[in-house]
This record gives sequence, C-alpha cells and structure tokens, in this order.
Amino acid sequence: MITLNSKIETINGIAKRIAPKMKKLGVETVEELLNYFPFRWEDWSQVKKISEIMPNTTATINGVVELIQNKRSPWKKSLITEAIIADGSDKIKAVWFHQPYLVKNLRPGDQLFLSGKVELREDGLQFVHPQYERITRYKNETTHTARIVPIYPLTKGLTEKQLRYVMSSVISLTDNMPEWLPIDLLKKNNLNSLAEALRQIHFPDNNGRLNRALERLKFDELFLIQLRTALAKAELRKSRGVKIEFKESETKEFVSSLPFQLTNAQKIAGWEILKDMQRQMPMNRLLEGDVGSGKTVVAGLSILNAVLNKFQVAYMAPTGILARQHFETLTNLFKNWPINIGLLTSSEKMVNNGQDINNKQQKIYDLITNGKLDLVIGTHALIQDKVELKNLGLVIVDEQHRFGVEQRKKLKSQGRNKLVPHLLSMTATPIPRSLALTVYGDLDLSVINELPMGRKKTRTEVVPPEHRPEKYKFVLDKINNGEQVFVICPLIDPSDKLGVKAAKDEFEKLDKKIFPEIPIGLMHGKLKARDKERVMQDFLDKKTMIMVSTAVIEVGIDVPNATVIMIESAERFGLAQLHQLRGRVGRSEKQSYCFLFTESDAAETMKRLQAVVKSNDGFALAEADLEFRGPGEVYGIKQSGYRDELKVAKLTDYIIIKKSKTAADEIIKIDAELNKFPLIKSRLKKFEATVHWE
Ligand code: ADP
Ligand code: MG
Repeated sequence: MITLNSKIETINGIAKRIAPKMKKLGVETVEELLNYFPFRWEDWSQVKKISEIMPNTTATINGVVELIQNKRSPWKKSLITEAIIADGSDKIKAVWFHQPYLVKNLRPGDQLFLSGKVELREDGLQFVHPQYERITRYKNETTHTARIVPIYPLTKGLTEKQLRYVMSSVISLTDNMPEWLPIDLLKKNNLNSLAEALRQIHFPDNNGRLNRALERLKFDELFLIQLRTALAKAELRKSRGVKIEFKESETKEFVSSLPFQLTNAQKIAGWEILKDMQRQMPMNRLLEGDVGSGKTVVAGLSILNAVLNKFQVAYMAPTGILARQHFETLTNLFKNWPINIGLLTSSEKMVNNGQDINNKQQKIYDLITNGKLDLVIGTHALIQDKVELKNLGLVIVDEQHRFGVEQRKKLKSQGRNKLVPHLLSMTATPIPRSLALTVYGDLDLSVINELPMGRKKTRTEVVPPEHRPEKYKFVLDKINNGEQVFVICPLIDPSDKLGVKAAKDEFEKLDKKIFPEIPIGLMHGKLKARDKERVMQDFLDKKTMIMVSTAVIEVGIDVPNATVIMIESAERFGLAQLHQLRGRVGRSEKQSYCFLFTESDAAETMKRLQAVVKSNDGFALAEADLEFRGPGEVYGIKQSGYRDELKVAKLTDYIIIKKSKTAADEIIKIDAELNKFPLIKSRLKKFEATVHWE
C-alpha cells in the first residue's frame, strides 16, 4: 500500500522512471512529492465548441479524432503530425511537430480533449502543438487538459506530463496529511485545512479554490518565520544585558561640540537608542536613514555613553575602506574625549593615540583583551575573529540590514559574565513595511527621515549614447574647477555578450583617450585591501580626480569633494542600489550631478531609470524596486535562507504577513515553550533544520 512515507518509485511505472530526476529536486517520498508545488497554472477549464473558436486565442475542445497522419513538411525536412478533430459543431485541424509516434497514441475514433493555441493559417484555423488527453470508459477525469493545469518546475529529462501523471496518482493521499495548525487558529484566520489546500494547489477545481489554497500555504510559510522571530524576541527579552546609564551632561557637551546642529530626526533616533541601552534587556535596534542622513554621529552618541559606562564597543563596517574611514571620523569626533580607538582590519592595525603601538598584530589584540581599547573598529569579521572583547557592551554594525538571528546569538558568548551586548545595526537601505515585519521582525526600528539642512538635491539625468561627449565636457569643467568624479561600472572584466562596461576597459578608455591629462584611479573588488586603501587615499588627497570603480564603492564612502557620479550600464543596477550610488555625491554645499548612462532604450529600462531621476526618496525607490525585481534581488534575501522556505509566499504578501504575525504572537503568549502545541513545535523544528540561516 502506498502511504505518505512511501518512496515515489513504488507508486507506478512512470514514477519509477522519474524517481532519479525527482531526487535531484529533493523529492523522494510521497509526502515530499505532495509538497512539491506548481509555480504557475494554465487555465484550460473552459471547454468550447469548435464553431465558437476565434483565431489567435487559446482554447480547449472535446472531440473525436477523424483522421491522423504523419507528413513531411515541404520546406523544412521536419515531420508533422496532422489530425482532424470534430465535435458536432465543426471540424478543426491540429498539428504537432517531431512527434511521429502520436499516430500510434491517437487513432481515428478516439475521444479526446485538446488544449492549446489556435492560429489562422491559409487552410483555416488550427491548433498548434496542443496538449491532448484521451477519454476512455475507465478514465473520465482529466489531468492535462480541460481543467486548471499545474505547471511545475522541472529538471532535465523530466516532463510536465510525467510529473502531473504521478502527482495525480497520489493526490488522494493529501487526505492523510496531518493538520498541524490548531482548528481555532484556522477558523479565526479563515483558512482551509492543509489536506484541502494541498489537493487544490495541484489540481484546483477553480480559481477561487486555488486562491484559498495559496492563502493557506502562504500562511504556513510565513507563520513559521513569524514564530521563529517571536521566539527569538522572547528569548532576548529573557536574557540579561548590560545597563548603560545615560550620561546627560557629557552627552550635552558632546552634542554642543559638534560643528553642526543635530537634525530633529537624529535627536529622536539617538534618544531611542540611549533609552534602550539603559535597560537590562539587550537592545536589538535597526537605525535606518538615507545616505548622508548622518547615522555615524548618532552611533557616536551611543559609543560615548557606553564608554563612559566603562564598556567596550565594537564597530563593524562592511569593507576595510569604510572601517578606515570610520576610524578617522570617530577619532576626530572624539578628539577631546579620553576614548582609545583601535582599527583592526586584515591590512591595517592602528590606534588613535598610543604612539607606542606598532603595527604588530599581537599588540592590538593585547590592548583589546586588556580592555585598554574602548572602541574597536573593523570589518564584519571582527566578532567572528579571535578578538576577545571582555567588556563588550555595545556592538554597532554599519551598512548592514541583514544582521541575522544567528549572528545575534553569537554575540552572546562574549561580554562580561556572558551578558549580552546591545546591538545597533545601521542601514541606508529603506525597508518596506512587509519586510520589516518578516525578515527584520525581531528588530526595533529607528528612522532618520530628514537630511541635514543645506544639502542640495543631486541632479539626475538619463544620458543616451549620443549625449555622452557633452557630459564628458561637463565633467572636464568640473574637474578644472577642483571637483572630483566617480565613474561606476557593473563588472570588472569585459563580458561582450552582456555589453556591460567593464571598469578596467572604462579606465583604459578614460585614461588614454578621453581625459589623458587627468589623473585617474581604478577601484574594484579584486584589488588587495592595501591597494584599495591606496586608491581611496589618493582620491581623498586629490592625487586622482576621477575614480573608476565597480559597485564596491556603493556603501558609506564619504568624499564631500566629489560632485559628479557617472553610472555606466545603469540598467544593470537595482533602483535602491542606484540611489545608494548617487548618495556618494551631494555631500557638501556644492551642486552635484548623477548621470545614468544606458545603451538600452527598452520601455521597462526607461521606466526604472526615470524613477531614479524623479524620486530622491530611497523609501519610494525601494518599494518600486520590490515591484520590479522582487525581494531576493533587492534585499539579498536569497542569502538569508528564506528563499528555500518561501515557496509560495512572497514578502509582498502584506496582509497574510500581518495575520501570521498576530497568530504567532498569540501562540507564544499562550505557551512560549510550545509544549501545548506539539505539532507546531515539531514542524518548527523541521523548518529550522531545513533553513540555512546566514
Ligand atoms: P550616513 O547616514 O550616510 O552614514 P554620515 O554619518 O556619513 O551619513 O554623514 C554624512 C555627512 O553629514 C558627514 O560628513 C557628517 O559629518 C555630516 N552630518 C551629519 N549630521 C549632520 C547635521 N546634523 N548637519 C550637518 N551635517 C551633518
Ligand atoms: Mg554611513
């Protein structure tokens, strides 16, 4: 007897044949097969009379084969199978290519359904390569035609027809699929049973039922994520953090010593952070603010208070270049404060005020371990490293919105008495509500939603090829005026087939042909850290006036003297990314410019690029990007492990996300250990085992 646990090769002959292919897709048992979902459906459910069929439409008919024969096409040497089908209302021709064996499968007199595209040819209407399905005395339910037909993701050597056939032979076993959600929860959220949902997702009776099935299965996926997030939050609430007292007078002194006034949004965010840190519960806060909104100084407020409370702070940047830049900014910011700052990257080790510190690796590790350094700045490797921050009270992660639950957990093993340090992560990537609720659901959010006064809006333009020369002239004028220029290219090496401008090529071209008089730097991800820093430093020192770079320059780099950014093959970048890149200029009082070069004039490309021209709102662009490209591309969700788990749900399913969050919170409220919900507990365990968290 076939059960949910049976291996699929035991189902029938076809199943045996496709079993090795299915294994490649991760499907070995019947249960796994039933959980292998279609990614779309063809609606062939409307059966028409032949006499009603219109040309250039798709249709399904129910008729009898009058004639079927193979022919050789006169112009190509290919084989065509032609059939005449009649249904009492009229007759119609059907043709198939390269399937001569069809004449053995279909015989005159056979009753069948045909579904497919109908075209108008010289000799009348005809079905081109239709799906067919015979009706016999023993089989009157259809699988491939005359219904809403599932289309599955396939692998080489596996056909839709085979998979559908095997699926249809075990679909009744969905009735045995155990329901893991409590009845009350299903009722409250108006959800179908799992058995019903699984049956309908494969072979929907109609579109309404298909949608109900999708709702239920999306809920399942999102509910598990919400449950996990809610549990992580509950756990964090239980763990003990370090209390960081608010040093009011020192903080005021620090703020008034700044060369500028904090914006209102900076003050509010700063206050939210300081309030969090005063509590015993570890902070887990995301500080979100557009490029140039001044997140660093807000982080500075938290650093000051942590250090005054005798705690160490780890500050992590995504690249060595940025770590170096933060080291300089913060050293300057705290120049009148007794704060010892260290920089620790793969290529550089230094401290701000100890002349006796040489570049010896061990020395800085000792200083950190001895607690002599109050603030250690490095790359994200810092916490994974052998660096032991005994007194760690605060961790700041810059330009990362993906600081996952697992990384958060790692922080716990450090710190005094296993106390959990506060965590502040910062990002310029605006996060739409739906994402904030799912992927980042365990984080509290602070938003800096205003830029410092006096910033001029960067002028953005899409530049077609014929206007390139005049832009080069414009750039030359700016350089002669002492201003600097970024040129961004999507890839390092030439790749003709995509026509993508490569940074190296572009560098050669600008250096030799366009601006032979101007010193130009080249930056890309394959340079050694040391070389990257040299290129960066040369640019900061105005030894070079143009920097050609790949998108490595994207995050955080602060060169206020740069006023023009030219982006090559702009269509290759996401909108949020273009906005980030644009944020490299417009960092001073001078007017800045962003030129988006593209050779494509596809309507879609223009629409996307015009969105960047029109909007200076990172939030709006991120939402638009989410529409255009989906969350995987935009937020790197691909790497975060959700890709595999979100088979049907999308991170834009806002209503279901909200429902699932409420449901998860309610379950946790009843029993945070989930002992009262053993089925949910085991399902969650399975889920955690399959998801590859960062
Ligand atoms: P981001 O949020 O992109 O990390 P930064 O912290 O690098 O922004 O700040 C960008 C620039 O704005 C820095 O040069 C910083 O000194 C300056 N800045 C920050 N806050 C203010 C403010 N309130 N007024 C004027 N300039 C500010
Ligand atoms: Mg920054």
